[in-house]
Amino acid sequence: MITTMKIIYNPSSNLKLLQYGIQIPVTDFRDELIAKAMSSKEIPVEVIKQKLNQLSLDDLTRVHQSSFIERLQSESSLIEEIMTCFELINPDGSYNRYDPSRATAPITELYECVIQKIETAYYASQYCLKGENAFLLGGGFHHAMSFGGRGFCLLNDGVIVLEKLRSLNKIKNAWIIDVDAHKGDGSAELTANNPYISTLSIHMKNGWPLVTGPLDSDKKLYPWYIPSTIDIEMEMGQEAQYMHRLQRGLEQLKAATAKPDMAIIVLGADPYELDELPSSSKLNLTLPQMLQRDQLVAEFLAKEGIPALYLMGGGYGVHSHEPYVQFLNKVFDK
Ligand SMILES: [Zn+2]
Repeated sequence: MITTMKIIYNPSSNLKLLQYGIQIPVTDFRDELIAKAMSSKEIPVEVIKQKLNQLSLDDLTRVHQSSFIERLQSESSLIEEIMTCFELINPDGSYNRYDPSRATAPITELYECVIQKIETAYYASQYCLKGENAFLLGGGFHHAMSFGGRGFCLLNDGVIVLEKLRSLNKIKNAWIIDVDAHKGDGSAELTANNPYISTLSIHMKNGWPLVTGPLDSDKKLYPWYIPSTIDIEMEMGQEAQYMHRLQRGLEQLKAATAKPDMAIIVLGADPYELDELPSSSKLNLTLPQMLQRDQLVAEFLAKEGIPALYLMGGGYGVHSHEPYVQFLNKVFDK
C-alpha cells in the first residue's frame, strides 16, 4: 500500500449547492465530513486558509473554448452557463431541482468556489512534482467539455491542472484514471488529440452521459461518446468482474502509453451501492469492493512509481463520504 499522502482541504471551495437553491443530492458538507473523520483519527489534513491565486484566464482558455470562458466573466451569461451545467431548467422553461426562493447566496458565487477548487487542485499537484501523492477533498469535474459545463462540472479541473503543468514544462506525460460511475467524457473530449495526456475510464455502459446513442441527426458523433484512451464499460450485474477488468485496463494503459510523470485519479464514490443519485444506480459496488478498487489503483501507481493526485469526483447522499474515509484510513493504517 502507498505510504505517503498529503490530504488538502480548502473550506472556501466547498460548493454548498443548497445555499444557492440547487437541490442536487450532493451532501454539501461531504468534504467537511471527511476532514472531521480524519482529525478524529489524528490523520493530518493541510487546510488552505488563504485565497489561492495561481491560475489566469489563459490557463482556462488553454483547455476550454475562449467564447465559453468569456461567457463566465459576465453575470447574465454566467448564470445561463450554471443553469445548463447543473441542469436547473427543463425544456418547457420550468425549474428542475432548483428553487431560487430558498437561496441564501447569489448563484454566481459558485464560479469563485469552482475556481478556488481548481486552484487547490493545482496547489496539491505541486506535491506530485516532488514525487508524493496528494488527495484533494473535492474536485474531479470530469464532465466539463471544451464548449461548456455539463453534469454538475463547470470547468475541467484535472485537464486544466495538467495542461498548466505541461505549459510550464513541469511534466511531459500524464494519465487521468477515472473510476467514477459516469464516463469521464469531458476529459476524453478535451484530450482526444493530445498525445501527452492519456485517459482511462471505467463506467456504466448505459448510464448518463451515454444515453443519446452515439450519433446525432447529422450522423456526427456526440462529444460524450468520444473515446477515452481506454474505456471499460460495465453492464448491469457485472460487479463481480470489476476488479479484474480494471486491473486489465490499467495494464493496457501502461502498455499503450509513455510512462507518465504523474496521474490524476477521479475517485468517484458514486459506484457505491448506497449512493443516492438515480443516474448512478446501474453500478453497485459494496463498501469492501470500493476499498478494493481504490487500493488496486493506488498500488498499481505506487508499483510503477507514478505520483498521484486524487480528486473526489461524484458521490451523492448521506453515505457518500464513507468510501473516501475508508480509503484514507487504510492509507494511514488507522
Ligand atoms: Zn459520477
